[in-house]
Amino acid sequence: MPTIQVALDVPVARLFDYDAPQATEQDVGCRVLVPFGTRLKTGILWAIATEPGCDPAQLRPIQALWRDVPALSATDLALLKFCSAYYHYPLGTTVLHALPPGLRRTKGWTPPRRTGASVLAQDSDNPPLPLALNTEQLQALRGILQVTDRFRCHLLHGITGSGKTAVYLALIQALLAQGKSVLVLVPEINLTPQLEQHFQQHLPQTTLLSLHSGLGEKERVTRWLAAQEGSARVILGTRLAVFCPMPQLGLIVVDEEHETSYKQQEGLRYSARDVAIMRAQQGQIPIVLGSATPSLETWLNAQRGRYHQHSLTQRAIAGATLPRMRLIDTRRTALQQSLSTPLLEALQTQLSQGAQSLVFINRRGYAPLLRCQQCGWSCPCTHCSTRMVVHLRTNQMRCHHCGRSRPIPVHCPDCGSVQLDTLGDGTQKVEDQLRWHFPHARILRLDSDTLSSPTQWREARAAIQQRTVDILVGTQMLAKGHDFPHLTLVAALGGDQALYSTDFRAAERLFSQLMQVAGRAGRSHLAGEVLIQTEFPEHPLFDFLMRQDYDGFAQYELNQRRLSGFPPYMHQAILRAHSKRPERLETFMAQAHAKALALAPKPPLTLFDPVNALLHRRAGDYRMQLLLQSPRRQNLQEFLGLWEKTLTASTLRSVHWVLDVDPVEL
Ligand SMILES: [Zn+2]
Ligand SMILES: [Zn+2]
Repeated sequence: MPTIQVALDVPVARLFDYDAPQATEQDVGCRVLVPFGTRLKTGILWAIATEPGCDPAQLRPIQALWRDVPALSATDLALLKFCSAYYHYPLGTTVLHALPPGLRRTKGWTPPRRTGASVLAQDSDNPPLPLALNTEQLQALRGILQVTDRFRCHLLHGITGSGKTAVYLALIQALLAQGKSVLVLVPEINLTPQLEQHFQQHLPQTTLLSLHSGLGEKERVTRWLAAQEGSARVILGTRLAVFCPMPQLGLIVVDEEHETSYKQQEGLRYSARDVAIMRAQQGQIPIVLGSATPSLETWLNAQRGRYHQHSLTQRAIAGATLPRMRLIDTRRTALQQSLSTPLLEALQTQLSQGAQSLVFINRRGYAPLLRCQQCGWSCPCTHCSTRMVVHLRTNQMRCHHCGRSRPIPVHCPDCGSVQLDTLGDGTQKVEDQLRWHFPHARILRLDSDTLSSPTQWREARAAIQQRTVDILVGTQMLAKGHDFPHLTLVAALGGDQALYSTDFRAAERLFSQLMQVAGRAGRSHLAGEVLIQTEFPEHPLFDFLMRQDYDGFAQYELNQRRLSGFPPYMHQAILRAHSKRPERLETFMAQAHAKALALAPKPPLTLFDPVNALLHRRAGDYRMQLLLQSPRRQNLQEFLGLWEKTLTASTLRSVHWVLDVDPVEL
């Protein structure tokens, strides 16, 4: 009587045995419905056990074995197993979370009834748009296509506007011609409609689907299945798509590989870029990481020859040049609130020429702070150790960490004073200032408050493209990959806090963000200009930025990291724990620390003391963390494996914890 091992979504790092007389080897990777305690749970049939782990008479029978959708393949399961081991996260939870939610339900899958057009967008009537590649693009293409039957990791380092997408498309065409499928990862959901349309124009005969969390539950499963069955040959998706089964997968592309949105920040804290590399390695296929400002991890790997580097140094559109860069020293220039005179003059010139401008500020809301002039009260969030942000449009104070809101107070609740001031700038305040200075200009604000749906994005993009907008005000949402051909002036404000941040990655992010946002200017034949307001013009970062010298910046920053012993020269992991009960949390962390010491970590592993998280309290939860690091990944991984077991054994009720391997935020 066959016993099966089932992976279940429970926080325990083991498989569960069940009795399943009907199961065969072919069913490994199928979904099963099993009794668990008093409930029913959906799991994945992980293996047929040769010998049951317990008395067969005690095994409970499964409730159902679903063969309604294809089983996950051995390759798919191997990738999930690797992820579970590498991120020290329970196998069952890893496996179930990789599935689209529609396949995690405790019922079988019923395909939706098709009405009207098929989701499988395909347009075989139109001929493909031709791709014209320049010499550098062709060189990169040939270099990558040299070896396609083995694992190779390529870095496509191309300046903004250099036409990385055209190289991806030519690669996809070549791989499709070999009968392979291609997975393309993008950092942000809002980029998918634009890219999808662009890709489809060049690949009219190919079924291309996007996969992201914005899709309805049924739609997501339908697309997942189309990839798994091989009918969708190109999948364009956000980080969750990295787990999508694709039997003929021949190439993975990770666009904007440096983006931190590839890292999941809860549950299984995986980096989709790193998982994609593991997947390419397991499948023995090439992977291309594309960026104008690669992460320093990737850059170092390329410098050391582990990754094959291909560079695009020219803008792809003939005649398009890199924008002129100018720093505005805010200590020496008159500021009218947040805007300097040179900046206002530049905007005025643009307006009189009918040209489009972008004002970039990386903070949404009206102002980051409301402060009582009398007593200094500044509207703390009642559930987080942070202050609430002023949102004047909705007359709210809003917490950007837990989402709580309250009306903007008229009096200070502490001293009763009515003298409440707003401090600092957010997108709304800058928008108001611009409206005051340029009452006739058509101004559009773009941040996550105004762009919460793909429809809003589509409308905004149409308005920008049809030139019914003169000045755009926006956050980093605008910096990523968007192509605005009429934009010729970019002004960046308020990036200075990154220069004195405690996060060692802040400078890298600011550089990358400013390079990206600067890259929005002058992408067509119109020359672009970039103005950056700063209080620290002498900071080396700006030197490299003015010359748009990524290589120089990377060299400089890597040197700093090496000297201070930070990643990528160091591999890190953080134990993150949270609880509503601070005393329990402290006990757990002290025990975790003691257990780590008892394991006698072998040098060069360094163990730090448990500390409060930077945001100690979020949404009512107290948060603490403990950092470990080692210059040798293997050393760290071995220790984490041992430590994780003792942590699992000593988990306290009401304390939740997770290991964050290769954290990107502290
Ligand atoms: Zn007060
Ligand atoms: Zn809050």
